[in-house]
Amino acid sequence: VGMGSEYLEISDLTVDFDGFKAVSGVNMTLLQGDLRFLIGPNGAGKTTLVDAITGLVSATGSVQKSGVELIGKRAHKIARLGVGRTFQTASVFENLTVLQNLDIAAGAQRSALALLRTRRGVEAKIDEALDIIGLGGLRDKPAGVLAHGQKQWLEIGMLLVQNSTVLLLDEPVAGMSHEEREETGNLLRRIGGERTVVVVEHDMDFMRQFATSVTVLHGGKVLSEGTVAEVQADPKVQQVYLGT
Ligand code: ADP
Repeated sequence: VGMGSEYLEISDLTVDFDGFKAVSGVNMTLLQGDLRFLIGPNGAGKTTLVDAITGLVSATGSVQKSGVELIGKRAHKIARLGVGRTFQTASVFENLTVLQNLDIAAGAQRSALALLRTRRGVEAKIDEALDIIGLGGLRDKPAGVLAHGQKQWLEIGMLLVQNSTVLLLDEPVAGMSHEEREETGNLLRRIGGERTVVVVEHDMDFMRQFATSVTVLHGGKVLSEGTVAEVQADPKVQQVYLGT
């Protein structure tokens, strides 16, 4: 596995809902280490694009992860290929501890690898995830007592122990305090490196601070793409986001 090999190559991706193209001919290249923000007004097609990548809606075109085609594969198979996502409402098991939540997430992968993986390997992976999400001190607390932000971080940890190398996060800082936003941005930077993170986000300040690249969707199509500065300077983007 060479440098830059963990990436997504999206070509001519289209989602057609009975003749309405919610995503229309999208091309995007996500490199290893990218912290890509996906922005655009309501109805731009952001959620549908993420749904198409993760196999929740059927699509045409191509999404390749390190050369493996994802389109046509089922959601659980795509997850097993290392493409993980979170939703706006964190789905953690409230009655189980932080550790148990991570253990279950790690176990979701275990059947296929059962004979190859030692318990110790799972524990090392969980420890690494706890470090990244900063919840080591809360490992034995029930997830139900965690603050809103901490639950979101636990969900990201659950993707990490599933060996997700492409993480798609739906508005990860919605409802968070200023401090939690900062923490989340730093967490996303820690995740980066050998992984790729795609963040669907409405919070422009958060984007400006943490994005390494931005894709603007509008009407199901890519309106603009580049660095934060490039996208902000694009007159087409200014037209869509009047006053920002
Ligand atoms: P965003 O996440 O950018 O707000 P969405 O991907 O949710 O946008 O929606 C894009 C467009 O597709 C919207 O016009 C929405 O009404 C439409 N849409 C989303 N899901 C469906 C569906 N299951 N059937 C028909 N139209 C849909």
